[in-house]
Amino acid sequence: MHRRSFPMPGLAGAAPQVNGGEPIVVKDEPGMPHRGKVFAAVHAHLDDIPYYAAGLCAKLMSEGYTGYILRTSNDERCGGRSTAENILSNEQDHFRMAAALGFKDVFDFYYQNHDMDGISYIDLRGRLILIFRMLQVDTILSFNPWGHAEENPDHWVTGRAVEEACWMAGMPNDFHEHLEAGIQPHTVGERYYFYAREGQPYNRVVDIGSHVEKKIDAIVECKSQGDGNRGSIVRAQLARQGKRLPLLGNDDRAADRAYVRQFLLEDDREHGKPHNLEFAERFYYIDRRPAKSKADEYIEKNAVNL
Ligand SMILES: [Zn+2]
Repeated sequence: MHRRSFPMPGLAGAAPQVNGGEPIVVKDEPGMPHRGKVFAAVHAHLDDIPYYAAGLCAKLMSEGYTGYILRTSNDERCGGRSTAENILSNEQDHFRMAAALGFKDVFDFYYQNHDMDGISYIDLRGRLILIFRMLQVDTILSFNPWGHAEENPDHWVTGRAVEEACWMAGMPNDFHEHLEAGIQPHTVGERYYFYAREGQPYNRVVDIGSHVEKKIDAIVECKSQGDGNRGSIVRAQLARQGKRLPLLGNDDRAADRAYVRQFLLEDDREHGKPHNLEFAERFYYIDRRPAKSKADEYIEKNAVNL
């Protein structure tokens, strides 16, 4: 379950220094510079990606990336209904949310919600390795595996398995039977870790101003959890009292969108303010794309014929 980042005592307003420097502000890039590249957004619950990273997902797809989304838990503890009904309603919301953002495909792993610290960790990592190789994933978005203040085990278990799978997916002796099946080793080079809790590190501030409508499209589909239908609920409650709120418009869809825009994007507004942006998302970015070593450069330059 997503929870908005509540300030921690002593950390309120403090921007953590990352590598002693200021975060880099990332703007829209014209001309489809990422055409042909693939990213996987890996979260645990229906509403994680919509709140932490929907703006970046929309930005990457608008710049040429093909996006896939993967949810590790079954979300059975959230939805306000029976366990089985919660699993179904979250699954249906997840498909609608993914379609709203433009993902090409959805993977659901259905591990038991809130109990992922008790699952077979190697099973989770192996499943991720297969998908990273199968899709030849260039870039992942997921939880910071070492971000402090994380109370939800589904988050940190997912983040750690993703980080390890990004590396191991490139090692031919891990799951060598994949090669027999024609699925080639492939290291995931670029990683964006969510800023999920107040005080976690970040080194990228992504301007999502031109993608905020897409982010709202995603959040309003989070009805089982994430308050995506809060606007229409409030509208109905007021109607029963013979009242209406002009902000919420004249139908449920308009009410949901207006409520999200007015009340549920405060983190993004706050993260944009120091950089004069209307809306921004924060990430800890790591680039593990292979670079030519100094030895390779030297050999290439200096090798002579026998
Ligand atoms: Zn969550």
